[in-house]
Amino acid sequence: MLNLVLFGPPGAGKGTQSQNLIEKFGLIHLSTGDLLRGEISQGTKLGIEAKKLMDEGSLVPDEVVIGMISNKLDANKDARGFIFDGFPRTVAQAEALDNLLESKGSAISGMIALEVTDSELEQRLLKRGETSGRADDANPEVIRKRIKEYNDKTAPVAGFYKKQDKFKSINGIGSIDEIFASINSVIEAY
Ligand code: AMP
Repeated sequence: MLNLVLFGPPGAGKGTQSQNLIEKFGLIHLSTGDLLRGEISQGTKLGIEAKKLMDEGSLVPDEVVIGMISNKLDANKDARGFIFDGFPRTVAQAEALDNLLESKGSAISGMIALEVTDSELEQRLLKRGETSGRADDANPEVIRKRIKEYNDKTAPVAGFYKKQDKFKSINGIGSIDEIFASINSVIEAY
């Protein structure tokens, strides 16, 4: 199985590159942000509780997203592999993901981090907010909170995979095709 963690701050291009990877490698895309937005649009209890945190740019509790990922792994037992996008976002989530995959006789193949500067991210997110319909993309204060959450809680997840010798970072600034080519060269090495 090819199990990739696509890593990087909000606005780094994880969603865009995930679409390319799904097409090329036939992987299942698991984006916890998309799953949470799905819960919100269905008006579930989980969605209602998550919305408040998402609207202010805070992370939702680990057990909520771990539970969603666990369900999706169970629902896709025959998958060729997964792209994890926006997950794991804390070291506790990374540990839980290792345990979930291990219980299925699988493991993470590697983490690929998209490196983008904070000022570029803020501009990209505000631009995305003009069309995405996402409240958390439209407000500069919420964007800064999301980047802060990333730096405080998510950035340490890179160290978790570095310790396992599974971390690779690539330049996340450039054309979509250029960045996809860099990702491919990392995957070829697996
Ligand atoms: P995203 O679409 O990945 O930018 O996520 C949007 C929002 O959903 C984040 O700002 C968080 O509030 C929440 N979220 C998504 N994934 C996670 C996660 N793995 N852990 C905690 N919160 C998450």
